[in-house]
Amino acid sequence: MKSIVLGYPRIGEKRELKKAIESYWRKNTSEDNLKIITKGLREKAWKSQDNLGIDLISSNDFSLYDQVLDMCITLGCIPERFKNLSGLDQYFAMARGLQNEEVDVTAMEMTKWFDTNYHYIVPEIIKNQTFALNSNKIINEYKEASALGIKTKPVIIGPLTFLLLGKEKESGFNRLELLDQLLPIYKALINEIDSLGVEYLQIDEPILATDLSLDEQAAITRTYEYFDEINSGVKIILANYFDCYGNNLDLALKLPVAVLHLDLVSCSLQLNDVLSHRSFNTTKTLSLGLVDGRNIWKNDFKKSLEFIQKARQKLKIESVWIGTSCSLLHSPYDLDLEKNTKGINTTIIQWLAFSKQKLKELGDLKKLATDPNNDVSGHIYNENIRASQNKLESKLIHNPTVKQRIQTLSFADSERNARFSKRQLLQRKTLKLPLFPTTTIGSFPQTNAVRLTRAKFKKGELSQELYDEFIKKETEETIRFQENIGLDVLVHGEFERNDMVEYFGEQLDGFIFTKFGWVQSYGTRCVKPPIIFGDVSRPHAMTVKWSTFAQSITEKPVKGMLTGPVTILQWSFVRNDQPKAITCNQIALAIRDEVSDLEKAGIKIIQIDEPAIREGLPLRNEDRKKYLDWAVKAFRISASGVADDTQIHTHMCYSEFNDIIKSIADMDADVITIETSRSEMELLSVFVDFKYPNEIGPGVYDIHSPRVPTQEEIESLIEKASKLLPQENIWVNPDCGLKTRDWPETKTALVNLVHSAKNMREKLAQSV
Ligand code: GLN
Ligand code: ZN
Repeated sequence: MKSIVLGYPRIGEKRELKKAIESYWRKNTSEDNLKIITKGLREKAWKSQDNLGIDLISSNDFSLYDQVLDMCITLGCIPERFKNLSGLDQYFAMARGLQNEEVDVTAMEMTKWFDTNYHYIVPEIIKNQTFALNSNKIINEYKEASALGIKTKPVIIGPLTFLLLGKEKESGFNRLELLDQLLPIYKALINEIDSLGVEYLQIDEPILATDLSLDEQAAITRTYEYFDEINSGVKIILANYFDCYGNNLDLALKLPVAVLHLDLVSCSLQLNDVLSHRSFNTTKTLSLGLVDGRNIWKNDFKKSLEFIQKARQKLKIESVWIGTSCSLLHSPYDLDLEKNTKGINTTIIQWLAFSKQKLKELGDLKKLATDPNNDVSGHIYNENIRASQNKLESKLIHNPTVKQRIQTLSFADSERNARFSKRQLLQRKTLKLPLFPTTTIGSFPQTNAVRLTRAKFKKGELSQELYDEFIKKETEETIRFQENIGLDVLVHGEFERNDMVEYFGEQLDGFIFTKFGWVQSYGTRCVKPPIIFGDVSRPHAMTVKWSTFAQSITEKPVKGMLTGPVTILQWSFVRNDQPKAITCNQIALAIRDEVSDLEKAGIKIIQIDEPAIREGLPLRNEDRKKYLDWAVKAFRISASGVADDTQIHTHMCYSEFNDIIKSIADMDADVITIETSRSEMELLSVFVDFKYPNEIGPGVYDIHSPRVPTQEEIESLIEKASKLLPQENIWVNPDCGLKTRDWPETKTALVNLVHSAKNMREKLAQSV
C-alpha cells in the first residue's frame, strides 16, 4: 500500500509566493531572486510531505501562476500575439495582458477549474495550431526534488483535459482534430521523463468527471493506448477527480494505465461500481481518494477503512493505494498555525484538518490499514472516533430558532410582489435614470493605505473612531469621484471589506475564520474561505452603516452591496453534516434580513452579488437541475422581501453563463451586471435565441487586466450589445469590482466608460 498526494498547495504558508511575484511585477524583486524564493517554497512542500511519510509526492504541481498556463508553455501552445515576448514576460503577459510603450496585448481568458473556486487560463487553439515541447519546468523540478533525495512523480495535465478545456479561437474545426499533433509532443515528454528514471507519472484527466461525447471517449482510449505503445518504463497514474467516472467508467477501466485514481469524497458510490464492473481487472492498482482535498473536516477513519477493506477483498494490498481525493491546492496549509487564532475554540479545532494534517491522516490510515492491532493504531482510531462523535452532538452547531425558521419557509418568501414589467415602471419613476445608465460593480481600488489601515484596526492598533474616520474619508472621496465623472448609480467603494465573503461571514453566527487558511483563487490572488460549522444567523445589521453614510452625502442613488447566499456558501468550507441546500437557505434568510434593513434605511438599489452561482453547478448534466432549483430559490429568498420599486441587482463573473442563462433569468433580479468583456462579449450570443427578460449590464471593461479600454472599444461593445438586447434594458459598467486595480487606470477607464455611454445616448437621440 502506498500513500499518494495528488498535489500540494504552492502559494506558501504565509502567501510567500504571492508576495514574491507581486513584488517582481512591481520590479522590486529580480528574476533571480524570485527563482530563489520559489525554489525554497518547493523544497519546503516536498519536505513536509516526505517527513510525514508520503510515498508518492508530486513535482510540477508548483506554478508561478497556473498549471494550465504551464501546460500551454510545455506544449508550445502559445497564441500568436505573445510570440514576440519570451520568458517570464511572455508567461505573465499570457496570464494578465501587457501594456507598455512597445506592447499592447490582451490576456488570455480565465475561467473556473471545474466546480472549484480556482481559475485557470484557458488555452487558445486555432485551426493550424502547432505544438512544440518545452519540458524545462517539469524536468528541472524533478531534478530539484531528486537533489533533495526525494523521488517525485511528475504531474501533468492530460491531452484530453487540455484540449477540451481549451477554446477554439476560429471556426471551422474541432479541437479534437489536433490530438494527433499533440500526442507526439506528449510522447517526447514521456520519453524524456523516462530517461530520468522516473517510476510514476501522474496524468490528470478530470475531464473524465464530465459527460463526454462518443468521439471524446474514443479519443481518450486512443490516447492512452498510444502512450502504452511508447513502451517506456514510466507507469501512468490516471487521475480523475471532482466526480465519478460516470458513463466513462467502462472505458476508463479498459485503459492500459498502471493506476486509476478514484475520488471517493465527491463520489463514494463508485468504488462498488468499479469493483463489480465486468471490465475491472485485478492487475490494476486503485488509488483511493479518501482524504478530502477540498474541505477542511477531519477524515472519518471508520468510513475510510471500510473503503480500504472493500478494495482489499478484490485486490492485493500493494494494489490498493490511499490518497487525497484531488490536489491539496484547494486546501489551506496548516491548522497548527491557527492555535492562537481568535474565535476558533479548541473544540472546533478538533474537527478540522488542513493540508499538513491531511498528510498525517494518510499516514495514520496507512498504519491502521496495514497494522491495525498495534497499540498506536488503536489510540489513533479511538481519537478519531471521539472527534466525530463530539462534533455530531455539539451545542455549538445546532440553533433551534434557525432550524424552525427554515421549516416555516413558504413559496411566497421567494416571490416579489409584482412581475418585473410592473416593477420596472415603478423603479423608473422612483430612480429616474437615463438610458444606458452607468454604474460600477462595487469595490474601488484597495490601495496599500486602505489595506494597512484595515489590518491595523483589526489588530487593535487603531481606535474605532480613527478607523471610521479613515473609511469615511475614502468613501467620501470615492463618492465625489463618481459624481465628478458623471456615473449614474454610485457605490460606497467597499473600503471596509477585506473580501466579499469574509466580510459577511465574520458578522454571521455559524462561521469561523482562520488566520492563515489561504487558498489560491487565481494567479497571486488568494482567498481565505470561512468555515461554516453550524446553523447560520445574523445577530446584527452588517452593511447599513457604510451604505447609509455614502447615501447621506450624495443626491445620486447609492447601491447597497451584499454577497448572495449561493456565493457565500460556495466560497466557504461548508459543513458536511447536512445538505448544502439547507445551509444555503439559512444564509439566504440572513441576507434577506440585511436587504430589509438597507431598504428601511432608505437605500433604493441593492446589489446581491452571485458570482459563484455557475461554479456550484454539478459537473454532470443529470445533477444540474436539482442544484439550480435550490440555488435560484435561495437567491430569491434573499431578494424578495422588498417593495416593488426597490431595485435588486445581481452580479456574476468568472464563468461562462450561456448554459444556465434560463436559471439566471429565473433569479428575477431587476438588473444583472455580468462579465463578458474578457471573452469579447461571447456571452451575448446567447441572447440571439434567448430573450433575457430583465435589465442587464454586460461588462464593457475587463478589470482583470491593467489595460485601459478606449472609449471607442467600449462604445463598440455597447453597440454590439444593443443589437441583441432592448436598448432600454442595457446598463454600462465594468465587468467586475475594481478592488484589484490602481486608481490612475481606474479613473481613465471609467471616464472613457461614462463618455461612451453619453455618446451612445446622443447618437440615439439624433437617430430618432
Ligand atoms: N461587489 C464586489 C466587488 O465589486 C463583487 C466582486 C465579485 O464579483 N467578485 O468587489
Ligand atoms: Zn465580479
